Amino acid sequence: MDMENIVSLCKRRGFLFQSSEIYGGINGFWDYGPLGVELKRNLKETWWRDMVLCHDDMSTLPGAPEPFSMTGLDTTIILHPQIWKCSGHFDLFHDYMVDCRETNKRYRHDQINGRWVEAKGQKIFATAQAGDTELAAMEKQALKFFNLRNKNKDDLKWDGDAVCLTSIDNNELVLGPEAKTLGTLTEPREFNLMFPTTIGALGGEDDRAFLRPETAQGIFVNFKNVLDSTRFRLPLGIAQIGKSFRNEITPRNFTFRSREFEQMEIEFFCHPDQSQEWYKFWRDRRLQWYKDLGISDDHLILREHTPEELAHYSIGTADIEYAFPFLPPGEYGELEGIAHRGDFDLRSHMVGKLDENSDPLDVQLDEDGKPKWKGSGKDLTYRDDLTNEKYTPHVIEPSAGADRGALAFLCEAYTEDEQPDEKGKMQSRTVMKLHPRIAPIKAAVFPLVKKDGMPEISKEIYLDLKKNFNVFYDEKGAVGRRYRRQDEAGTPFCITVDGQTLDDGTVTIRDRDTLEQSRIHRDEVRDVVHERING
Ligand code: ATP
Repeated sequence: MDMENIVSLCKRRGFLFQSSEIYGGINGFWDYGPLGVELKRNLKETWWRDMVLCHDDMSTLPGAPEPFSMTGLDTTIILHPQIWKCSGHFDLFHDYMVDCRETNKRYRHDQINGRWVEAKGQKIFATAQAGDTELAAMEKQALKFFNLRNKNKDDLKWDGDAVCLTSIDNNELVLGPEAKTLGTLTEPREFNLMFPTTIGALGGEDDRAFLRPETAQGIFVNFKNVLDSTRFRLPLGIAQIGKSFRNEITPRNFTFRSREFEQMEIEFFCHPDQSQEWYKFWRDRRLQWYKDLGISDDHLILREHTPEELAHYSIGTADIEYAFPFLPPGEYGELEGIAHRGDFDLRSHMVGKLDENSDPLDVQLDEDGKPKWKGSGKDLTYRDDLTNEKYTPHVIEPSAGADRGALAFLCEAYTEDEQPDEKGKMQSRTVMKLHPRIAPIKAAVFPLVKKDGMPEISKEIYLDLKKNFNVFYDEKGAVGRRYRRQDEAGTPFCITVDGQTLDDGTVTIRDRDTLEQSRIHRDEVRDVVHERING
């Protein structure tokens, strides 16, 4: 799997375009083309359907302690600024960055790796941006710095493995990833990832707000509204899909790290005594969801955070990670995080920003001993009407990225193989083996030739299917080429009207992956496609 081929197919076939491309693009922003928009919509709809709409709240799912309810919300992108103070994003949501004074480039401190190297009696720390070609990039940097040719690369004496720039104290000996001289990287500086914006015309400090960096907070602050306006009891999951914004310092790896992206999040509210069981349930259920949609076991891992990585209020956090092809072999990138958040968020929104470093959790105080950020003062506890017990629910948060998900499914689907053409000659083909539920186009309808009434019958079938599915009609060119175009678009089924259709009303249905062609009656097409999509 070569990332360059995947990126080029995405552009060529209209899955993804760089945002504002005709103006040279804008870093960290991506547009979904005609096929991409359908893929991402299908992914979000599949998630919503599986997690919210089709959720059976009357039975106990395997691994769950008891039956539970699910519902949804759609909250605003700009929220009351106090929310980000109480959630911790205002104080804590930052990365460290370094600037290069020579090239004016900016990097995330923890995303620069380097290696000590000596030549011509001088030892320097040659660096590159972390990634699969970093060693080659470091070598290139070192050769340039020491004014050596490639054939003399043995003159470079490397000392130790590549390590992160964060472990280096002396900046003077560091050669920045694209710099020619030493010591041009600044000391790391904190950089808040939230995009600020201004509400209204006056634009003073009081009017400053932020684009949300996650959808979760909109759910926490509506927890009481949902309970008061419905008859739901806990355990209850509230789901939301929506845009989030993070001013990432080094957006890269295609859509993996973007500045504008979509999240699919669930905040699952439960009794504290059951929270550990629910955490395990959601972790396993979410992992299975990716597998059910076609991600192979070999490319997926569940990584439990080590105790040092955990916030101390958290009993557990696990990441579902995918072996993206732009990462070095054996490395994985996060698709979704499942976090046990305890009662941290609800308590912070009740009483004020909690101090994450003290135990038990206390409200964070400023230098004068006053609460640093005041909460809403509203009661966000829950009273169980059967047991009369009152408690602050614990929360399990499965938080997935729709764009990272779409990218993983695109990478997983990309396949090159060889198949015989109509004359039996082997032809290479590119096929996107997307699961039928998320494939942009579900079926294509072709007349074998453009005569004898075949286009008319094909159009009737096409219009009938269109009522339920996104389908495509194509009568141009050789049928083999039409098949191959649909293979590249990931269309799972092609329906062809041929001479036999005129005699007995049957059509062929071709399976993208097995290439098997079977004959079914034209009246059955809708049911067969429906059944094959939904399994
Ligand atoms: P990372 O460590 O990669 O920056 P994160 O741990 O900060 O990610 P979360 O805050 O847990 O991410 O967000 C939940 C999900 O949102 C992630 O698993 C990912 O799928 C998605 N996501 C987060 N940041 C981005 C981004 N910059 N671009 C695209 N998707 C993102």
